[in-house]
Amino acid sequence: MAKNEFPVSLADGFDRQKESRRFRAHSWKQLRVAALALLVLGWPLVSAGLPAGESGDDTYRFTPGIGEQRIVLLSEVLGGAQWIWTRPGDSGWDTVLLGVRLSALEGDAAEPWLELSAGSLCIQQYVERGSHGLRWLNLTGLKSGFADGAMVNMVGHGVAVEAGPATLRIFANRLNLKGRILILAAHPDDAEIAAFGLYAGSNATIVTLTCGNAGDANYKDQFPDPAEQYQFKGYLRAVDSVTAPWQGGIPPERCFNLGYFDARLQDMHAAPAEVIPEMYGPNRDISVYRRANIGRMLGSGPRSNTWDHLVEDLVRVFKKVKPSVIVLPHPFLDSHPDHAFTAVAAVQALEKWKRPATFLVYTNHAGENLYPYGPAGTSAPLPPWAGRELTVESFYAHPVSPGLQRRKLFALDTMHDLRLSPAEQALCLPPGAQPDREDYPRIQSVDYFRRGPRPEELFFVFSREGVLKLVQTYLAEMPTASTPATAQRQ
Ligand SMILES: [Zn+2]
Repeated sequence: MAKNEFPVSLADGFDRQKESRRFRAHSWKQLRVAALALLVLGWPLVSAGLPAGESGDDTYRFTPGIGEQRIVLLSEVLGGAQWIWTRPGDSGWDTVLLGVRLSALEGDAAEPWLELSAGSLCIQQYVERGSHGLRWLNLTGLKSGFADGAMVNMVGHGVAVEAGPATLRIFANRLNLKGRILILAAHPDDAEIAAFGLYAGSNATIVTLTCGNAGDANYKDQFPDPAEQYQFKGYLRAVDSVTAPWQGGIPPERCFNLGYFDARLQDMHAAPAEVIPEMYGPNRDISVYRRANIGRMLGSGPRSNTWDHLVEDLVRVFKKVKPSVIVLPHPFLDSHPDHAFTAVAAVQALEKWKRPATFLVYTNHAGENLYPYGPAGTSAPLPPWAGRELTVESFYAHPVSPGLQRRKLFALDTMHDLRLSPAEQALCLPPGAQPDREDYPRIQSVDYFRRGPRPEELFFVFSREGVLKLVQTYLAEMPTASTPATAQRQ
């Protein structure tokens, strides 16, 4: 639980849940402590220094002094809770989160979700199965319904919302998205999944670090030799990473694939000067994949696959692009090692590029690849996170219109790795049958066509100091053993 949170609850009405009874007993005790603190210190101060909450609580730690923090009182109504919106102090706000205590109903096989409404607006937000404890709902989609004094309603479906005090966090990020934006992606498709809506129509440059020459042997029917198959796949995906952003108006001249080898970044980091070969073959030259680039920022001559070269390339990219906004993966939440080490490489390159920038940090792999939950088109809360405390300086929900969500879906569809290979399509499988490969992309629970198109793209916002600290903390705490990445979804 976040240290600055208000861990109290006034829940009732859900006596059929044993878990909930234990939870409430604990919460009533906390409420008495909080009420006493309230009398002595005044309302805004009671959140500081209270004991940590239940196991299962999100452990985001919000940085004091950034954004507006407010306690709202949730009143119990049939099936949920309601409260009254009052105008934020900063009229330039763009993102709002509400910390609420949830208890998923036992024995319900469906994903729990909440119906959130204000004024004439209504949105759906799914949470993970078995949700229990503090979760941060994202109410940004209700923004135009938030008139001063508007009633905000929350109705749970398969999940109980606890009444009582809850923390509202309102952020006015004032991002300059008209300036130069740099999107950093670990693999072809990551930029689109995380930020297609953000980069579409902007002055963005998109840089993908690896060519994506690992994972499933999608094209083994055409290339029985594994090394040849993966080299072909890498080039195919490198071309995808350079061309798919054109669906969002970013010309191929501003998209670059650095050509480093998929599933190798962590090993490269461990021995920065050592040349690490491809996963499935002897090739050590990344220029094989860089030939996919049209823009000339990187050069096309032979270049070996080393960490030092990667960092050197990123320094070059920073100096050429001069971004004021840099978009990159979250090393803790974006759990694929190549994603985490994309952030590590970027931060190392920042040592040689000191211009001011804002950092938007994303995750494509939270919640064991199940997040965001629920169907495409529904909005998402913060990813559930019960590990070590994670600092949140600010949070930004970037609106993506229905038209842009459709465009994003079809941009993802241009990615060869997210759809069937020609051989699989040629099988003309009977209904219900699936091709014989492990990460067949039409497994609904992890499918990017479900997870990608959403009404908002979500980013943790960091200062330069904040993102440096985030990565330093990750490196200090990461497991020492290399994590096999070959079988992981990218
Ligand atoms: Zn990836």
